[in-house]
This record gives sequence, structure tokens and C-alpha cells, in this order.
Amino acid sequence: NTWLFLLLYLVMLAGGTGFILLTKEKLDIEIVKAATFDELTEILNRRTFILRSKELISLAVKKEEQISYLLIDIDDFKKINDVYGHYMGDTVLKNFASMIKAQLRDTDLFGRYGGEEFAIFLPGTDEKEMMETAENLRKTIETSLISDNPNYTISIGAVTIMPGKETTVDTLYKLSDKALYEAKTEGKNRVVISRL
Ligand code: GH3
Ligand code: MG
Ligand code: MG
Repeated sequence: NTWLFLLLYLVMLAGGTGFILLTKEKLDIEIVKAATFDELTEILNRRTFILRSKELISLAVKKEEQISYLLIDIDDFKKINDVYGHYMGDTVLKNFASMIKAQLRDTDLFGRYGGEEFAIFLPGTDEKEMMETAENLRKTIETSLISDNPNYTISIGAVTIMPGKETTVDTLYKLSDKALYEAKTEGKNRVVISRL
């Protein structure tokens, strides 16, 4: 009987430890996921987008390759929330992210900067290719009529540069943000390229 109890005890101990390890592993995965991705849209969060962009800038400097950067802001998003409600606003953000993601290459970075502002990093992309990509994204959203969903448009501020050692993610953000501001004041639903 003693042996049986001891055996039973050991089996339970092993099972318990296994359970704890499995739970911990699952928790670790959840923590990494929460630190890397935006919860709503499941694309990169701002922090990770910036970290990975930094790596891609260094790589582009070594390879002497041009890089492009797009800043996207949904037009009149406040109205979508006001007219259809916050829940529909969230749905629009999720659909927007998955539609854009479907158009990008695996090597491109796509992140949520906050609210209804998003950024895309296009490695090894010159201005002509960048403009094609940006226009395609803009048109995709303009013509994406999902039944019962509100129709909306996006504005894009864009920049293409040959990066040097002094180039930072902030450089790209500031240039494209200025272009995005112009896109908004010129009437929205358009792509504006930053002229250095
Ligand atoms: P503009 O064309 O100039 O960009 O106007 P806009 O209305 O899009 O911009 P504004 O900055 O005035 O409003 C952005 C709105 O986005 C306000 C905020 O409540 C909403 N918003 C930000 N984050 C979220 C979110 O996660 N979910 C929802 N539903 N709304 C959000
Ligand atoms: Mg907006
Ligand atoms: Mg905004």
C-alpha cells in the first residue's frame, strides 16, 4: 500500500509540474504577443514597428538600397464612430488592417502607430514602386465596399530616401507626417510625397 501511495504521489507530482510548465510556456507566449502586436488589429505595435524599422535602415545602409516609408491616416474617422458607433469603428480598423496586410510583401513592415494612424516600411523600394504601392492601397480602401460597413478613405504621406548612417525612424516619420498633413489640407483621399 505504501508503494502504491508513493507511486500515486510521484505521478501526481510529475503531472502537476508538467501542468505548471505548460501554463508558464503559454503565458510567456501571451506576454511576447502582447508586447509585439497591437491587440485590436493584430499587426505590429508602434514599439516593435520602430525597432524592426531601425534594423531595416541599418541593413539598407549596408546594401546601399533605397527605402520607403508610408504614414496612413483614415479620413474623417471620428465621423464613423459618431455615426455608426465605437464598435463599428473598431471593426473598420480591423478590416482596414487585414486588407492592407494582404497587399504587402512578407518583407514589408506594417504597424499601428496609434488610433487610426498606421505606418508601412518598404525595404528596397524606390519612389516609383512606392507610389504604385501607395496608390494601390488608397484605391483598395476607397473601393472596398463591405456590405453594411461604412465607406471611407485614407490619406497617405510618403517618403523615399537613400539612407545614410544619420537616418533614423524619426527622420522618416517627420518627413511623411508633413506630407500627410499636406494630403489632408489638399482635400484627403490622396497620396502626397515628401519633397526633401
Ligand atoms: P482627419 O480626416 O483629419 O484624420 O479626421 P479624423 O476624424 O479621422 O481625425 P481625428 O483625429 O479628429 O479623430 C480620430 C478619431 O479616432 C478619434 C478617436 O476617438 C478615434 N479612435 C482612435 N482610436 C480608436 C480605436 O481604437 N477605436 C475606435 N473605434 N476609434 C478610435
Ligand atoms: Mg484621421
Ligand atoms: Mg489621426
